[in-house]
Formats: sequence, C-alpha cells, structure tokens
Amino acid sequence: MDEMDQPNRPAHHLFSSVRQALLDWLFPIHCVGCRAPGAAICPACAATIRYPTQGFCSSCGRPAALSRPGEICRRCLAGLPALDANYAAAFAAGVLRQAIHQFKYAGQSHLAGPLTDILLAWWRAFAFPVDLVIPVPLHPLRERERGYNQALLLSRRFSAGAGLPHSAHALQRHRPTRPQVGLNAHQRRENVAGAFSCVAPDLVAGKRILLIDDVTTTGATLCAAADALRQAGAHAVTALTIARPMPGLTNSEFHGI
Ligand SMILES: [Zn+2]
Ligand SMILES: [Zn+2]
Repeated sequence: MDEMDQPNRPAHHLFSSVRQALLDWLFPIHCVGCRAPGAAICPACAATIRYPTQGFCSSCGRPAALSRPGEICRRCLAGLPALDANYAAAFAAGVLRQAIHQFKYAGQSHLAGPLTDILLAWWRAFAFPVDLVIPVPLHPLRERERGYNQALLLSRRFSAGAGLPHSAHALQRHRPTRPQVGLNAHQRRENVAGAFSCVAPDLVAGKRILLIDDVTTTGATLCAAADALRQAGAHAVTALTIARPMPGLTNSEFHGI
C-alpha cells in the first residue's frame, strides 16, 4: 500500500541542493532559447512565453465564460468525461515548447525547476481545493529508458511548493502505450484506454485529486488516468499541465510533444 509522500523532507532537500550546486559548477546552465548563460530559461526568453487569457477556451479558442485562464470550454471537456476540468498554465510555443521537449526527450531533467515554477505561478493565482496531487505515471519500461518520469519530477516540486499532499505511486500505467505523437484524437483515446490502474484506492477514495502532467493535447491520457482514479472512488479529478498547443493548431502541425 502506498504511503503519501511527505511534502518536506529536509535531508532530501539538502542533498538535492548540494547536488544541484555541484551540477551548476560542473555544467553551467544555459538558456534553452538563446544559450545565454545563467538560467535554464533567461528573463528575456521567459518574457516571450504566451499565456492563455480569461474568457476564451484555451483549446478551441472560442469565447467562453470560464473561471480561470487555461481552462477549456464545456464543449471541449465533453469528450473527457472523467475530468472535472483540464487546465494548462501556458501555451506550448517558442521557448516553452523547446524547454518541454528538452525536458522530456533530451534528458534535461534540471528543467523541472523552471517548468514547475510556471505551474506554481498559475496555482498561486488560481488555486482551488485539492486533497491529493498525483502525477500521470509512465510505464516502468519507458521510465527506465528515459531515466525519470517527467510528470513525477513536476508533481513532487509542485506539491512541495503548493503545500499539498502528494502520492507518486497510487496510480500506475500497467500497459505500455505507443507515444501519442502523430496520432489523431480517436487513436489517442484508443491507445491509452484502460492503460492505468489505481493501486491505492484507500488513498484516493472520496478525495479531490489534482493530476499533473507536462503537456495536454487532446486530453486523452489525462482522461484515461482520471478514469482509473474515478473507478477507485475519487470524488473529483482535475488536471493541470504546463502547456497545451495554441488554439487552431491541428495535431499534425503540433509536432514533437
Ligand atoms: Zn534566453
Ligand atoms: Zn473549447
């Protein structure tokens, strides 16, 4: 049975900060966008990141009365019945898209820091009641290949920063799935249907769960994960990701994430 992770573990944090200082010294950090030294996303490049505005569905771009920027309209949410809402803090374009790509496919795990900061900035402005934070899991084979689960790196930092309980292992991906890149909406749903299971129903029953992942495109993965949590008795499941494609881009135009 899974135990909830402690949001603050001093020894772990000390080890992380010593390790990060050593890594910074060995491999000075350069901006993903312009290669300027000093920060993974420099202030000039960070200023070009595009954020959704309130009053518009950030998926289809239509005007909609929504409570928070980065939310999707009822029509877009209708295809994701297991989710109560699906928020993305920013749009995956320019430097942010590059950063997410490097984070996910090029081993640049240090980008978890600046990318989580984007989630936390959104959360501090638009927080809502949540009982437990859970990352979208990778299948163990994929995690071994990549060396880490990018969603878990984000959700750990996020939950510590937001002061929310976190569980790394309540949800598991028990079936390896093809990467969603290049699949249409229908194929994405089929690809991930039934791929997840909740192995700690005691932990999620009756809770308001916040699912964390790096990006959302059609929402199919988040919905399949939410479905497993609902079957385990979750009271509500909401998703928060760093970014989604700009409205109007088709999946085939949105290569690579
Ligand atoms: Zn830069
Ligand atoms: Zn919409």
